[in-house]
Amino acid sequence: MGKILLGCIADDFTGASDLANNLVRAGMRVVQTIGVPAGPLGADVDAVVVALKSRTMEPSEAVAQSLQALAWLQAQGAQQIYFKYCSTFDSTPQGNIGPVTEALMDALKTDFTIATPAFPDNQRTVFKGYLFAGDVPLNESGMQNHPLTPMTDANLVRVMQAQTTRKVGLIDYSVAARGEAAIRERIEQLRREGVGIAIVDAVSNDDLMRLGPALKDMPLVTAGSGVAIGLPQNFKLTPSSTASELPPSAGLQAVVSGSCSLATNRQVLAFIKAGRPALGIDPLRIAAGVDVAAEALAWAAPLIQKGPVLVYSTADSNAVKSVQGRLGVEEAGAMVERTVAAIARGLVERGVRQLVVAGGETSGACVQALNITQLQIGPQIDPGVPWCHAPSDAADAKGLHLTLKSGNFGTDDFFTKAFTRLA
Ligand code: ADP
Repeated sequence: MGKILLGCIADDFTGASDLANNLVRAGMRVVQTIGVPAGPLGADVDAVVVALKSRTMEPSEAVAQSLQALAWLQAQGAQQIYFKYCSTFDSTPQGNIGPVTEALMDALKTDFTIATPAFPDNQRTVFKGYLFAGDVPLNESGMQNHPLTPMTDANLVRVMQAQTTRKVGLIDYSVAARGEAAIRERIEQLRREGVGIAIVDAVSNDDLMRLGPALKDMPLVTAGSGVAIGLPQNFKLTPSSTASELPPSAGLQAVVSGSCSLATNRQVLAFIKAGRPALGIDPLRIAAGVDVAAEALAWAAPLIQKGPVLVYSTADSNAVKSVQGRLGVEEAGAMVERTVAAIARGLVERGVRQLVVAGGETSGACVQALNITQLQIGPQIDPGVPWCHAPSDAADAKGLHLTLKSGNFGTDDFFTKAFTRLA
């Protein structure tokens, strides 16, 4: 196997796919691994994204796992390391973006890196160090009320400084707009001032493409998925359809959904309206001890022979709140995830080889139930959502085509469009 060029560490699961998708579109062949692999990589690719779930764990544990991922990526030959976090800079006052960034800098013996969650394609822009989500500053976007990582300050220099011992500075728009030479000059100036981490302004993809060349020799880049669009050119790679090539698809088609996001609710309705077979599962019946997975699989068995089917627990927020009130939030979530994952596994055992999974937590549960440790990233279906291919214990030698749709991504016809795209 050849050496990889870019080694990436992502702090959550669907965020890893989002980054991988951007790299593929910019011309890299990419594999995403679920956690740090035990052995060497068995694929010839340009970049690997190691997906961790380190966003909200204890900072010391997030650091330990990130360093383990770094060591593995270095063993695969990675020339540059990319630490990927959310485009809304999701973090607690203790981290984990700051502590992980510093630990990676120490391990790589580098005194300077950048930090920018800018992702203009998804309306995340940074101006004068302030992060905007759509038309409003981060702390007015709803993120101020996030249950795990409330973001109450849009000024990323302040946010990052609160999580780090190194001095944090800014490469602002007036510099970023002038391109590589100006950015490099500013970096040298910041270095002389003792700055170790610089927030970078970017309001458009053009800004990110101008930033890319200035990052060429930087051992560590930290960012959302946006910066990825400007990096493959540094390795002389340009967009090409071969980067997203997957083995040909075959086998039966199915969708499982445990996502209760607004977009997913619309997608379930659109699938039903299109006259496709769909079965809703009831969390209260699972709680009552009914084998809901076996029922769903018996329902699906004759239907999957004729075309895609959907099994969903997707419900609107009132229904979800009512279930959570009776079963408890965590209990309800875990129970539904286990059931949806068992259904996904059963469908694959019955010949499904093209599987759409909706929901971030749900995706984690399904990937685990299918014993998937590695995903080759293929063509984009909608922004942030690519088809992937996984060799799986539960699949035959042909493996499984899989797409993991995070809650609010995808157009209303996603559940039918996905299969057309793969064909
Ligand atoms: P999303 O964030 O898009 O809603 P996730 O899969 O990340 O999707 O999270 C949804 C969570 O809600 C999961 O833990 C899932 O098991 C749970 N869940 C799914 N359907 C229901 C339901 N009908 N009632 C209560 N909880 C549900």
